Amino acid sequence: MNIGVLALQGGFAEHIAALEKLGASVTELRKKDDLRAGLDGLILPGGESTVIGRLLNETGLFAPLRDLLDAGLPVYGTCAGMILLAKKIVDEPAVYFGAIDVSVRRNAYGRQLGSFAATARFDGIGEIPMTFIRAPYIEAAGAGVAVRAVVDGHIVAAECGSVLVTSFHPELTDNLRVHRYFLNKIEAREACA
Ligand code: GLN
Repeated sequence: MNIGVLALQGGFAEHIAALEKLGASVTELRKKDDLRAGLDGLILPGGESTVIGRLLNETGLFAPLRDLLDAGLPVYGTCAGMILLAKKIVDEPAVYFGAIDVSVRRNAYGRQLGSFAATARFDGIGEIPMTFIRAPYIEAAGAGVAVRAVVDGHIVAAECGSVLVTSFHPELTDNLRVHRYFLNKIEAREACA
């Protein structure tokens, strides 16, 4: 299984390490040619969504990735990656891939003091450690969206069809279960294809 990890800015190295521990092969995506490898799934890492959004356009990766997502390529977005996948960003005009019907609030816990750790239940996995860094949360989710985790009354993980998003960073913990969950989802999909 080959997973593309967007490697323009932010915490892509930790995602690559987690995927490799689970036996997946990884293609780092920095330019359009990197898509030639053919992908079974895609990870959009944390970082700064405005910067990643700008670099997606500058590298020409935005349009081909959007087409792959429209065609149903499984994708997992963490933090800034979740912002890039959301249909709406609260109080901001920008929309990037608009691949999942959620409204996200950026820096929802405050800019400076917004980093913390929690342990909470992820539906379908169980209790897991969650690391939040200037994280967004989901203020509203559309009818078809499955809420997977809630912390302090705020939605921090959601899934709809081929799209999985988390406010937190499992790649910064030793717990690989969310990545395993994403790979299982791809395997199940390929088994039915
Ligand atoms: N605050 C960042 C943003 O708005 C996201 C932070 C993160 O990815 N850890 O893009």
